[in-house]
Amino acid sequence: MRESETKEKQRGVYVHTFGCQMNVHDSQKILTLLSKEGYAPVKQPEDADVILLNTCSVREKPEQKVMSAVGRYAQLKRKNPELLIGIGGCFARQEGPKLLKRAPVLDLVFGPDNIPELPQMLGKLHEETSSLVDIDFDPAEDVRFLDIAPQVLDSSTSAMVTIMKGCDKYCSFCIVPYVRGRERYRSGHEIIEEARKLCKSGVREVLLLGQSVTSYAWQDEETGEVWKLSTLLKEIDKVEGLDRLRFTSPYPRDFTPDLVNCFGALPTLCEYVHLPFQSGSNQILYRMNRRHTREQYFEWVDALRERVPEIALSADVIVGFPGETDADFDDTMDLIERVRFDGLFSFMYSPRPYTPAARKAQVDERVSHTRLLKLQERQREIMLEKNEALVDSIQEVLIEGLSKKDGELRGRTRGNKVVNFVGDPNLIGELVTVKILNGYAHSLRGELV
Ligand code: SF4
Repeated sequence: MRESETKEKQRGVYVHTFGCQMNVHDSQKILTLLSKEGYAPVKQPEDADVILLNTCSVREKPEQKVMSAVGRYAQLKRKNPELLIGIGGCFARQEGPKLLKRAPVLDLVFGPDNIPELPQMLGKLHEETSSLVDIDFDPAEDVRFLDIAPQVLDSSTSAMVTIMKGCDKYCSFCIVPYVRGRERYRSGHEIIEEARKLCKSGVREVLLLGQSVTSYAWQDEETGEVWKLSTLLKEIDKVEGLDRLRFTSPYPRDFTPDLVNCFGALPTLCEYVHLPFQSGSNQILYRMNRRHTREQYFEWVDALRERVPEIALSADVIVGFPGETDADFDDTMDLIERVRFDGLFSFMYSPRPYTPAARKAQVDERVSHTRLLKLQERQREIMLEKNEALVDSIQEVLIEGLSKKDGELRGRTRGNKVVNFVGDPNLIGELVTVKILNGYAHSLRGELV
């Protein structure tokens, strides 16, 4: 082996991930890809020869965090001029070459679909001093990106599997269609094969991922059959060794009866749905281009609860969307009161580049902030009430790891609730039965039965 190759095998790579589970999964793919090229993942940025920031641009706040992280890594580069710093993901695609001007310390800017080229790009940068920008993608070709199955970072308990990417929905506040492109679906056969391999290696829970995962519509070229998400769920449910199946993020309008009927029918499909509603006001939903009304949303919730009464629900909601009045916000408060979610991801609206909503008159930030606090306070009470109602119940828990508290384990119920309890660390990765002793707003406490 040549000396240069030996040297390359010892290079350390550190990936700093921002944003959603898709990004977490993309970071795993980056590490998988680079591990195959001889890079070693490192836990501290100080130990890295290459630092990659995998970014998000869905909200404004992560962007600010990204730029301050770049500032911190710039200090490392002062000590180690050989260090390469790259920035990828949606924010990188959104900003492109402008990022090199904003932060001259950067060596590389790459889009989410340019991950397969990373080894070549880093190879060039190791040899030359100039910086590189690669944010273009070809919709006809970029499905290959989905074929990189992560090998390195998934715990042996749970694994994410990408089934599609991009989004065609164009909600008026969302940058995803502009930075991730149109919907592209991965072959159903490949997805099942990946799930099989993961379960063979000890994985017990699979999370199917996509920006608008319920829109999945892959056509089998041999048979002409179109696989919907329900087709895929039924096929994956048969995979040997799989205990739990989940998917995220869905688009409410795609909750057709065939999908609803999978709940309660497929043994592995967990009784949990993340169903973003974004606003409880029909006027705001229309402005958001969400293509559904609050009444339809209630119908989908009712259909799911009719099918599985104990199903756990979570959602995303935005407050302070342009044009949101007090009455619109009251409709949102009324929706959370009626649905009583088990979890809620609530955000203050922030204008995103390219999006139609960014060009509308904005709600005063202080008003939005007050609304957000009010909504979060009520939601906290609801979650506390719901979790307290689980006291004395018996739950199946998949143990994911150690709890923050010494001597305790952390796992999740089928309803995606975090449970902490005393137990032997050798049980990590096992399905156990736990009696719930206490319910808190964000977690449960229990004991092994
Ligand atoms: S469905 Fe989701 S990802 Fe697609 S545009 Fe709307 S909010 Fe964005």
